[in-house]
Amino acid sequence: MSTAEALKKYPFLFTQGALPAGSLTNLGELRPLLPKALARSRQLLGLSLRRGLDPSQRKYSDEREMAALHALAFALVTATGNRRMIRAASWGFSKEVELSLMSDALHNPRGFPEIYIRVGKAAGIEAAFNWITQRFEMSLLSYLVLRGIEGDPKLMLPQLSLAGGKVAVPPNVFAAMVSRVLRYSLTMKLELQANELRRAELDPDVKAGAETLASEFSRRKGEEVDIQTLSPVESLFPPCVKFWVSEMRRGVNVPHQARFLVATFLLHLDYSVDEVLRFFSTTPDYDEGIARYQVEDLAGEKGSGKKYAVPRCDTLRTLGACTCREGLCVHMTHPLLYYRLSIERKLNGDKLAGSECAGSLSRLLHLARPRRPVCP
Ligand code: SF4
Repeated sequence: MSTAEALKKYPFLFTQGALPAGSLTNLGELRPLLPKALARSRQLLGLSLRRGLDPSQRKYSDEREMAALHALAFALVTATGNRRMIRAASWGFSKEVELSLMSDALHNPRGFPEIYIRVGKAAGIEAAFNWITQRFEMSLLSYLVLRGIEGDPKLMLPQLSLAGGKVAVPPNVFAAMVSRVLRYSLTMKLELQANELRRAELDPDVKAGAETLASEFSRRKGEEVDIQTLSPVESLFPPCVKFWVSEMRRGVNVPHQARFLVATFLLHLDYSVDEVLRFFSTTPDYDEGIARYQVEDLAGEKGSGKKYAVPRCDTLRTLGACTCREGLCVHMTHPLLYYRLSIERKLNGDKLAGSECAGSLSRLLHLARPRRPVCP
């Protein structure tokens, strides 16, 4: 397959991914594409057994038509207004791109660098291929401005080689990098589009298509659990939050990082400042005036006006505020993710939901009572 042929697998190279303004209120000449766009949306959402482009779509000789089909498929997903579906479609698409890139490297050993560079550029990554080292190279600045690669250890600087102000990346890692960056930018773009579409009067066929997709998705994947709309269930809190809350209730003077974790976690679940203060009121050094100011600051109601994020698990492990490394917590990345997953498990009837480290928690509480338990 020639490079030009291979590039047809990446329709976003030929478009900015957006449909002409007003297309979704009146499909016009795009209407014949709707059935195929619906099929494509199902693939992206993981609702179809077939992955990638089906043979009928491969026959498109006109790249612009192929690009319009993709844009319409994404538009149908955004028209549902469902953020979870948007994330699923972005994930499905970025995974397809990564697999296609890897297959290109396998089947087109001379031409794949050009494909990677073109696809990378369309995703916003400026890189060149070094035939001697067989690595893609980009300036440190280009690397530092990339969004969406956080959280993937193999894409972090310590795992890559840096020499002469250039970051060198092996082809398989470059494919993963393109995939993550595309996923991030696509999700951002589609979420923005979804917000704009909320007020629009959609074409009846688009509306019907979006409703079909939404109902198929919720039947197959279950309803989204939005943790902010559920009453917080303390038994499903992550072990670290449960542990530090218990310590505070026992009157222990817990470290600053544990207080920060508990306060930001509760605020993120929409606890009010007064409700959060009740958790802290049993600590020995409690001073309502100071505590209120600090919690209001964390909530974004004072000082910088910025609401503070809940720290990630790796930060909490480093700080010694993580208290569990079993079950869900072995590979956990964020306390809010633990809480969300525990709620989903509970709703699915899992009696063990939220029970990670329950034994060691009670052991810690009733026996040794260490001040700063750390992950083993
Ligand atoms: S792994 Fe994360 S959620 Fe689990 S106890 Fe540690 S910090 Fe908390």
